[in-house]
Amino acid sequence: MKPRILICNDDGIYSPGIACLAKVASRFGDVRIVAPDVEQSSMGHAITSSRPLRYRRTPLPGGFDAYRVNGTPADCVALGTYLWERVSLVLSGINLGPNLGSACWHSGTLAAAKQAALLGLRGIAFSTAVAMTDKTPDFSSLEPYVDKVLELLLKEKEMCLVNVNVPEKPKGIRWTRQAIKQYDGKVVPGKDPMKRAIYWFTVKPLEGEEEGTDRWAFGKHFVSITPLRLDLTDERDLARVLALPITPAHPARRKTRR
Ligand code: MN
Repeated sequence: MKPRILICNDDGIYSPGIACLAKVASRFGDVRIVAPDVEQSSMGHAITSSRPLRYRRTPLPGGFDAYRVNGTPADCVALGTYLWERVSLVLSGINLGPNLGSACWHSGTLAAAKQAALLGLRGIAFSTAVAMTDKTPDFSSLEPYVDKVLELLLKEKEMCLVNVNVPEKPKGIRWTRQAIKQYDGKVVPGKDPMKRAIYWFTVKPLEGEEEGTDRWAFGKHFVSITPLRLDLTDERDLARVLALPITPAHPARRKTRR
């Protein structure tokens, strides 16, 4: 039996990136696309819990079995795996724009893969560079690299959550770790046409890249593959405080002094 692969993204179901990912994935199993009906970039791991969701069949070029959802990337994975049993792998992307370093906290693309991991499935997120022009990235040139990465990762069965960034014309593939030191959330003030104050919040990476990180590899035109985990516990801090006595030992039992 062929594995069932669910395809999601955060750019919306009509993005050229999702079509490319579905095309490559169909070489590895049965594919179904379940993706947001409109763009959901930078939505992170938001879920829709205060209104109902709809799941509507959507004709797409390429003839893929596809459904659009009026929700977030995480919603799509929750619904997609609920309505199609036996999904073993969720792929997300290919995002129009890289998801490197601290951008992973905001990424809807990565959140879709993360939702799969939360459900005990495997999730892999794919992102690529986009030029600052109207030009759509050449997805057909990325296909052989996405194919190669999938072949590689399907063998790594222990990895439940993976973040892949594919630059334009890659020189090769590198295993990397997440860059965390280059974040600079930037607020740009402006005025609306009525002269009222408005603000744009963007994330601007700081200069410099640490060797071995996703940003470093991507900047050197390598495909970056970062294995991630769901556990955010700071082990060092936890070990340090566990070694200390907690005073007072039990506040409720403290004797009241008169
Ligand atoms: Mn996006």
